[in-house]
Amino acid sequence: MRREQSQRFTERLQQAALLLLEMQIYRKPDDLARRFGLPVPVVRYWWRNSEQEIKEVDPTSATAKQTKQIRKAQQTLEEWEKIKRYRPQCNARLANGKQCKNSVAIRPPEAWSQGCLAERCRIHGGLSKRLIVKKVRQEQDET
Ligand SMILES: [Zn+2]
Repeated sequence: MRREQSQRFTERLQQAALLLLEMQIYRKPDDLARRFGLPVPVVRYWWRNSEQEIKEVDPTSATAKQTKQIRKAQQTLEEWEKIKRYRPQCNARLANGKQCKNSVAIRPPEAWSQGCLAERCRIHGGLSKRLIVKKVRQEQDET
């Protein structure tokens, strides 16, 4: 998965999580993380670094717009389980001319600012910081 794609997807997860926490659909970051299978430290970090502006919404008396927002945010977060299970493949070129079919690596919580999914599998340096930096430089040179 390309870096920008991964970052964009991660930002969508973050926005959805913050919306549900602000509306108090989930009272604690930990509850939300467990419900959607997200890493607890990541959700805690998102919440800590947000405005933490609580606009409590009672689900039984929510407006149509709020109900829609809540549903959309929940759907976005449910995608994480799916994407986690069916990650894109690494596609690194192998010595035999074929492409690596392993799933790309899931980054550890502290690296989610670069996107939750790495570009490559573990074997092909998906979690290596040096490779990522080199790649970015190459892309910049090309443009
Ligand atoms: Zn690979």
